[in-house]
Amino acid sequence: MRTLLIVNRLAVSHFLPLASVRWRVASSRPCSSNSSSQEQQRHSMLRHLTSKIKSTGPISVAEYMREVLTNPVMGYYVRNDMLGPEGDFITSPEISQIFGELLGVWCVSEWMGAGSPGQLQLVELGPGRGSLASDVLRVFGQLRTVLGETSVSVHLVEVSPVLSQVQATCLTGECNQASASEDEPCYHHGTTAAGLPCSWYRSLEHVPRGFSIYLAHEFFDALPIHKFQRTERGWREVMVDIDPEKPGQLRFVIIPNPTLACTLIQADEKRQHVEVCPEGGVIIQQLANRIAEDGGAALIADYGHGGTKMDTFRGFKGHQLHDVLSSPGAADLTADVDFSYLRGVAEEGGVACLGPVTQRLFLKNMGIDARLQVLLRNCTDPSTKKQLIQSYDMLTNPSKMGERFHFFSMLAPSRLHRHRPQAAQGLKMERKNPAPLPVAGFTELNL
Ligand code: SAH
Repeated sequence: MRTLLIVNRLAVSHFLPLASVRWRVASSRPCSSNSSSQEQQRHSMLRHLTSKIKSTGPISVAEYMREVLTNPVMGYYVRNDMLGPEGDFITSPEISQIFGELLGVWCVSEWMGAGSPGQLQLVELGPGRGSLASDVLRVFGQLRTVLGETSVSVHLVEVSPVLSQVQATCLTGECNQASASEDEPCYHHGTTAAGLPCSWYRSLEHVPRGFSIYLAHEFFDALPIHKFQRTERGWREVMVDIDPEKPGQLRFVIIPNPTLACTLIQADEKRQHVEVCPEGGVIIQQLANRIAEDGGAALIADYGHGGTKMDTFRGFKGHQLHDVLSSPGAADLTADVDFSYLRGVAEEGGVACLGPVTQRLFLKNMGIDARLQVLLRNCTDPSTKKQLIQSYDMLTNPSKMGERFHFFSMLAPSRLHRHRPQAAQGLKMERKNPAPLPVAGFTELNL
């Protein structure tokens, strides 16, 4: 496995020395608003939802999720920085920078696997606090000699003004500004310390076309889902309504007649309860079209299942489970990603797919053990050593994040195929073409 050996060597020898390892878990989180204004916002979100339901009837779970998370004025993502120990949940890039470093190696490895094109767009969907992109870009800096004269640019798809400002500070320091008009597709731009242009968009369709490596970590689980229940009369949609017995509260109801969304359910569906994320399907379709036409690759990491789970809709507040219908806007809402659905859409879009594989397997294939050993060898401070081991355990332990999170990749079809021998000038030429480089992180090579 040539690529994997290269990956291990890069991971061991080229990365930052231990002295620069930061432990983000310990960092403090800037607060976007004080608690009394947060309280007011929550009440207005509930008022907004109840008046909507009063005027048009029950709303789909997808509409509920969309309003609660991304309403342009009151949405949970729009006005909060919710990541980190003082927030509502913590993610792998926030736990250890090794995570982003290994994904950075993956990006470079896939760029090499595509024949080292002269242009490379790093595109991240839902970049949170910007930590993953920052760690990936640091690896690009360490591998400057490998990337050579490649023109690298950074493109971030983010709906949250609060988080995009956190990302801008993380990636560009002071060197960024809002675009002249709010309505421009690229609403914010800046330059990283290494001089790379960095742009922000609200939607993937606005990101310029071209060879790109797309990253999406804990992005698809935040997209709105529709929920359906199998009944004696067939599939029916589950919606959100006002509880008639408790007027200030919401409840789930099963709609008596089929809704348009019921057509999303597969004819051979066996489960009793199903969640479908059509918005996730549309984004996968867009990614597949881009990768098939412009080249590149996508790496999607999230918690999810292979079309087997039923009710996974959850709320998180202060690192605890939170009732999804109570205090809308106060907690994160999420649903496990159905990777078999995403894979089906991707394959229809003409790209090659790998995975999903567990985070544990992916990180181990990427050389996380070797990287940890190097850091431990160079570390003299016992508390840093302890933190290194703890965060490694959190990322890879099967009972923690190791088996709950999965990695799925979409690649240009040519990436996994041997090139056909070509006939030259009418002569039958048996030109030996080398096998394509294996794809780092994935052991499975299903063509
Ligand atoms: N990837 C980060 C953050 C995950 S939280 C990490 O792993 O740490 C989800 C991120 O997606 C946030 O940045 C949120 O603002 C963003 N987001 C949620 N819905 C979105 C949408 N529809 N379009 C663009 N960004 C979205």
